[in-house]
Amino acid sequence: MRVAAIDQGTTSTRCLTVEADGTAHVAGARGHAQSHPAPGWVEHDPEELLANIRAVLATAGPVDAIALANQGESCLAWDALTGTPLSPVIVWQDSRTATYLAGLGEDVSARSQAICGLPLDAYFSASKLGWLMRNNPVVAAAHAAGRLRLGTTDAFFLDRLTGTFATDLATASRTGLLDLSSGKWSPQLCALHGVPLATLPPIRAVDAGFGLLDGVPLKASIVDQQAALYGHGGRWPGDVKITFGTGAFLLAVTGRSRPEAPGLLPTVAWQRVDEAPVYALEGGVYDAGAALEWLRRLGLYAAPEELDGFEGPSALSRGLVFVPALSGLAAPYWDRRAAPLFIGMDAATDRRDLVRAALEGIALLTVGLIDAAAAHVGSIQTLSIDGGLSQSGYFTRFLAAASGRAVRVPALHEMTALGLAELCGADVGAARAAAHVLQPDGSVTGEHHRRFAEAVARSRDWR
Ligand code: ADP
Repeated sequence: MRVAAIDQGTTSTRCLTVEADGTAHVAGARGHAQSHPAPGWVEHDPEELLANIRAVLATAGPVDAIALANQGESCLAWDALTGTPLSPVIVWQDSRTATYLAGLGEDVSARSQAICGLPLDAYFSASKLGWLMRNNPVVAAAHAAGRLRLGTTDAFFLDRLTGTFATDLATASRTGLLDLSSGKWSPQLCALHGVPLATLPPIRAVDAGFGLLDGVPLKASIVDQQAALYGHGGRWPGDVKITFGTGAFLLAVTGRSRPEAPGLLPTVAWQRVDEAPVYALEGGVYDAGAALEWLRRLGLYAAPEELDGFEGPSALSRGLVFVPALSGLAAPYWDRRAAPLFIGMDAATDRRDLVRAALEGIALLTVGLIDAAAAHVGSIQTLSIDGGLSQSGYFTRFLAAASGRAVRVPALHEMTALGLAELCGADVGAARAAAHVLQPDGSVTGEHHRRFAEAVARSRDWR
């Protein structure tokens, strides 16, 4: 079986082909525009994303199955009859609804979290779709005319590519509209956000099949982070992956019942046809690569290779700390009012020190998530990581030291696509085998963690 696995990510769309012998290679990749029409807003053009999916798929050649990973919480409105987008994609990073949600209060947030597992945060689709209903007259008019569709990007892509209006349970669990215990859309949460339930896609198992694309079955569809977990080989409670891309996302498999853990969010890891859902705990850092990109735009470094060459004592051990809170702080703080912070500079601090502190700050924020997951599942011994930052030797060494755990970096970076191929039934053993493992070297101490925690406290509640 030859599979084309398409990873429609936040900054690019990639296609990986997996051959019958388990080897894999990237067939095509395309970037797309990030638009920032107002402070805190982040949008994509739905037609551009769709065109990129078709373009990268065309590079794959003949395949027996296609699978698609999506950006998760990013969502939009489109016309049920024509498939025409009625809104841009509102990207998961977009915080336009933060003030609105803050006004709903703690009680409402707690009730919402009891149903869907997620707090009321602008990150999730629910409030973005509600915003479209309230603020986009075209969307409201389509609803009045009975031809509105609302959903995460996957549902739009599938509708347009195969004519199948559907989403999968794992992606649905990221919206803030799913009853996590029943696996169905929650009428209460739809009412809370003003999202008409009937406009949402039916929910399927991740490998239920999603129609035919040019005669080839589109076999599996799932949110990217969950696909990556599967690609890393995460199957059993305690298996953990962290993807360090634009944001950093930890997923720890917990088992077949809905988990609860302070500071982390319960989510569906996957559900295969005729099987019960498998759950995971999730924790994210909004700005990982995004923080580095910001420093690059400011001119602090020019090329990603410069993120690798650091030696000697960490910036942290010299008292220099960066808290990468450009979009606020996610789990376990859920503080949109936190602001990025550099602290501990002196007259000798140069731009390389600042960049290094940024890499360390990203790693340190994730350590809190790892420890919280370990407290729920027992022990976590190895972190399997991927994403752009996993290519930095300095970052991976520092992460091992800061977490006190072995860090495994697969040679193949495309874990999301690999997981997709596996969900289609491909044998990916050969593609997964190669990896290098970094052991903790004891260079990050409790005092260092305390210092970082103090910097985080100072970054909070600023805006
Ligand atoms: P996404 O899937 O979210 O689009 P990627 O996994 O492609 O993101 O990661 C992109 C990020 O990785 C960029 O923001 C960049 O800062 C970072 N990056 C890319 N190459 C390197 C490298 N060699 N070392 C460290 N960071 C890198």
